[in-house]
Amino acid sequence: MDAKEPKSKFIKLRCPKCKNEQIVFGKSASTVRCLVCGKELAGPTGGKTRVKARVLEVLE
Ligand SMILES: [Zn+2]
Repeated sequence: MDAKEPKSKFIKLRCPKCKNEQIVFGKSASTVRCLVCGKELAGPTGGKTRVKARVLEVLE
């Protein structure tokens, strides 16, 4: 088993606007928006996801 960075990682975010909790893919290639209010929670930056909401949990 090699210990490279995980290919899939999910993060649980809380929307700062409406407090909705949402699980998103950590390496999403597109902008992630809150399913409830539509606020942008995360967006791609150089292959990584830049999170703009509060991270509650990282799920591997
Ligand atoms: Zn929201």
